[in-house]
Amino acid sequence: MTQFLDSNFKLGILGGGQLGKMLCKETNEWSINTHILDKSVSFPSGRNATAFVEGDYNNYDDVINFGKEMDVITIEIEHVNVDALEVLEKEGKTVHPRPSALRIIKDKGLQKNFYADHNLPTSDYELFESKADILNAVEDGRVTVPFVQKSRTAGYDGKGVFVVSSSAKLEQMMDCPSVVEDLVDIEKELAVIAVRNPKGEVNTFPIVEQEFHPTANLVEFLLAPAEIDILIEEKCKNLAVDIINKLDVCGLLAVELFLTTKGEVLINEVAPRPHNSGHHTIESCSSSQFEQHIRGILNMPLSQIVQNSPAVMVNLLGADGHTGEAIYPGFEECISQSNVYPHLYGKVMTKPFRKMGHITITDPDREKAKEKAKLVKNSIRVEAKQ
Ligand code: ADP
Repeated sequence: MTQFLDSNFKLGILGGGQLGKMLCKETNEWSINTHILDKSVSFPSGRNATAFVEGDYNNYDDVINFGKEMDVITIEIEHVNVDALEVLEKEGKTVHPRPSALRIIKDKGLQKNFYADHNLPTSDYELFESKADILNAVEDGRVTVPFVQKSRTAGYDGKGVFVVSSSAKLEQMMDCPSVVEDLVDIEKELAVIAVRNPKGEVNTFPIVEQEFHPTANLVEFLLAPAEIDILIEEKCKNLAVDIINKLDVCGLLAVELFLTTKGEVLINEVAPRPHNSGHHTIESCSSSQFEQHIRGILNMPLSQIVQNSPAVMVNLLGADGHTGEAIYPGFEECISQSNVYPHLYGKVMTKPFRKMGHITITDPDREKAKEKAKLVKNSIRVEAKQ
C-alpha cells in the first residue's frame, strides 16, 4: 500500500500561512494527514490542517519536537530553523526541500555564489558585510551607482531590497550583510515553477509574466502564459530544470527570472516551495502547483502539466491607510461574474499592502481575461472595519 495513504502517515508543514492553507486543501483531497507548525491556529491554514501545533518554526526545539512525530516534513516558508531540519534528516526523516539546499536558498549571498559556481546566468554581484564597506567600495570605484542592495537573509516580498538609483540614495542603504548587484534593465519579470521527485522526474509549469505594484514592490498582476518568444520560453524552462537538478530539490522550485532589454535571461532568485506566481494553476492547469508539490515530496508520479486556459492573477492587498479587522467591500460584485475565482486567506487583521488573498480570472481570450482582471481589481477592496 502506498505509505502516504496509510491512516497513520503524517505530513508535517513548517508554516501556517496561505501557502500552507492551499497545500492542506490538496492533501485533504487525498485524505493525507497534514500537521502544521506555526505560532497561532488562527493563521490561514488553522482551519484546513488535520492538526495544528502552536510553536515557532524558527526555534530549534519546536522544529525537532514537531518533526520527530512526522513521516515527511516540508515547508511553506524558507525562513525556518535549518539546523533542526538537518538533524531530523540525519535521524532518518524525509525532509523536502533538503536542508542543504534550503541553507543556500535562505541566504541571497550563498544563492548568488551557487549560480556563479555552476555557471548559471545571474547579474554581476559582490558580497559586503556592512553599509560602511559598500560606501568604501563606492569611494574606491569598485562599485558604481546605480546598483541594487539586497539584505542577504532578511528579505521577503521586496522588503530587504533597496535600489540605489543615484548617489543621493547611498546614505539610506540598509546596514547589514548584503548582496550588491547590477541594476538590470528589465524588459519583463518572468517566473517558472519546476517540480521534481526523488526518482528524478522533473516537470515545469507554463512561464508566467509578473507586473509589479509601483510602490509596494509586490506582484500586482500575473499573466499566464507569458507573452514571450518560444525560444525564450525554452531557455527559461531549461534553466529551471537545470537549477532544480543542481540544487537537488524535490517538490517545487519557483525560479524568478529577468528578461533583459538585450534579450538575455538572468536568474533573480529561487524559492523551494509553492509560489505566488503559481496560484493561477489551481484553476488554469490540469494539476495545481500545490498538488505537484505534494506529488514531488511524496515521490509520486508527476503527471503532465497542461494549461487549460489563459489566466490572470491579482493579489488582494490590504488598502493603503487601513489597519484593523478586515472587511471585503465589493466581494459580491466580484463573484457575480463567471470564471472569477477569489481566494480569501482568512487573515483576521489587514494592514497596508498585506497579502490578504488573490483572485484568478480565466478566459480563452487572454485580452478579455486582462480586462476582467482590471474590473475585478477595482471592484473588491480589503479595508479595516470602522
Ligand atoms: P524579494 O526576495 O523580496 O522578492 P527580489 O530579489 O525578488 O526580492 O526583488 C524584488 C524586486 O526588486 C524584483 O522583483 C525586481 O522588480 C526588483 N529587482 C531586484 N533585483 C533587481 C536587479 N538586480 N535589477 C533591477 N531590479 C531588481
